[in-house]
Amino acid sequence: MSTPPLRLFFAIPCCPQLARDIADWRVRNPIDGKPVAPENLHLTLAFLGTQPRGQVEPLAALAASLTPAAFTLHLDRLARWKNGLLHLAPSKVPGALLDLERELRERLLAAGYSVETRPFKPHLTLARHCPRLPASTTPTFDWPATEFALYASENTIKGTHYHALAQWPLRPSAPA
Ligand code: ATP
Ligand code: MG
Repeated sequence: MSTPPLRLFFAIPCCPQLARDIADWRVRNPIDGKPVAPENLHLTLAFLGTQPRGQVEPLAALAASLTPAAFTLHLDRLARWKNGLLHLAPSKVPGALLDLERELRERLLAAGYSVETRPFKPHLTLARHCPRLPASTTPTFDWPATEFALYASENTIKGTHYHALAQWPLRPSAPA
């Protein structure tokens, strides 16, 4: 019997402290729409869509060959796209994040995967189907990114669950 395919994506997981800070902010500033569960907060690097399970191993090998540097994201923008996606974003995108996304995309393309062709807009989704931007003042959060991971997105009776299949550390920068 063949095993079902997986819905795969690479992302940077939100660290537990930032997830708690965002959850606290959301309690004080309720937002409309379908909120992303704290354990699901992330920044997508590359979305691969439905893939056979046999692709997990080559994808993990491809990611393991990267040597990305760590960085801190300063999330200082709260915005809503017209598709109703409410998100936090950095007004200045660290070069190390751009390098990671570009190198990953180039290797995926070279390996024959179809990946996003629109410009990379790094963001952390707070809610989907959000009808309006909250009236609250824009919060600021610092996010020390230390790893990235390959996830399988699964639909469960409790909602969407991301299952981490493998993760890789980001290289700490050398002390000055
Ligand atoms: P839901 O179950 O409500 O769709 P979700 O959007 O978090 O929840 P997925 O649709 O599996 O779950 O998406 C996983 C990640 O990939 C999310 O960050 C999502 O924004 C991103 N993503 C999904 N579809 C695409 C796409 N076509 N292009 C780029 N990124 C995508
Ligand atoms: Mg989705």
